[in-house]
Amino acid sequence: MSTQILRQAVVLVGGRGTRLGDLARDTPKPLMPIDGDRRFLDYLLENIARHGLAEILLVAGHLGDQIEARYQGRSILGARVVVVREPEAAGTGGALIHVADRLDDIFLMSNGDSWFDFNYLALTAALMPDDEGALALRRVEDARRFGRVEYQNGRIVAFHEKDESRNGPALISGGVYLLRRSVLQRIKTLPCSIEAEVFPALASEGRLAGLPFDGYFIDIGLPDTLVQAQTEIPQMARRPVVFFDRDGTLNVDEGYTHRVEDLRWMPRAIEAIRAVNDSGRLCIVITNQAGLGRGLYGEGDMQRFHATMQAQLMEAGAHIDAFYHCPFHAEATIEAWRHPNHPDRKPNPGMIEKAMADWSIDRAASVLIGDRDLDMEAARRAGVQGVLYDGGDLAALTRAAIGDAD
Ligand SMILES: [Mg+2]
Repeated sequence: MSTQILRQAVVLVGGRGTRLGDLARDTPKPLMPIDGDRRFLDYLLENIARHGLAEILLVAGHLGDQIEARYQGRSILGARVVVVREPEAAGTGGALIHVADRLDDIFLMSNGDSWFDFNYLALTAALMPDDEGALALRRVEDARRFGRVEYQNGRIVAFHEKDESRNGPALISGGVYLLRRSVLQRIKTLPCSIEAEVFPALASEGRLAGLPFDGYFIDIGLPDTLVQAQTEIPQMARRPVVFFDRDGTLNVDEGYTHRVEDLRWMPRAIEAIRAVNDSGRLCIVITNQAGLGRGLYGEGDMQRFHATMQAQLMEAGAHIDAFYHCPFHAEATIEAWRHPNHPDRKPNPGMIEKAMADWSIDRAASVLIGDRDLDMEAARRAGVQGVLYDGGDLAALTRAAIGDAD
């Protein structure tokens, strides 16, 4: 297990969509429309941000003014977006060199014109101390369009160039990497393709981890795959949720639990959340926090408690996508939070309905796991399946609830 906290992603959005022809003449490839006004990059950035990252650097080039106009300074699900424009294209290595002084010690790197759906944080748990990077690998049935990756026991051993005569299944790089900043020392001249000029050397030294995933994968570089993306990405982005109650389900209920030093996880709760992340579902917490209304603690205390949960989860390659809380109570001492029967307070389904409005959610496939009857009643009122937790192995219960055999 790693103790590194991943907080930054670098997304390369400077490529020319030459294979898209006229479609990409006036529009950068990552800004190709997918659904109405929603662009490919909108979906990709939301998906990156939901993993709990704090910053996304977009390295723009060709038609970069459009990227800058749309994203510079925006906050997406709590991640700050910074657009940096490269004066001239210098390859993937050159793009990193251009933002070198902004990079964290470890960062996620993704192409801006492909989507590989997996739990990005799983890469942090796979990165060993001597590794310079970890690559997400994808099995494809027909490898003719792709360079192949040779992989053994968690290490990438070699890369093989695209070979159109070689039909059949193979592992390919999915275009998403976790890298250490120190990898930049290996870039000697520009332009530089980090894939062609740096990764093979790291592989031969045994300093490149690989982790296979079988999630959805698409590259929008061809007119056909762009059309495919326009159908599949919106479906892909509509996910089932596992809603968790907090106190007594994820963490031990101390009674109005709010102090960071009182955070104790229920049995295998971290593994339960990791299983939800790995399954491609959203993980959302809905928690009654009447202690706020009663003036027992403040919102800052609750936020610190949640941030501590996230930090501990990240060390295990896991995260919570969102927290919804209800401070209202009929006997609140703080008047603004006094309410006889607030629609958000479980057993009312208000928090679930807010999540449904904020995220693209497959309601029928969603479940709520909680330790009390009021959780089950909120699930029933929202039309999602309720699963009562009795304090045992939360990971086993969660896996059974989502049909993950493990
Ligand atoms: Mg509870």
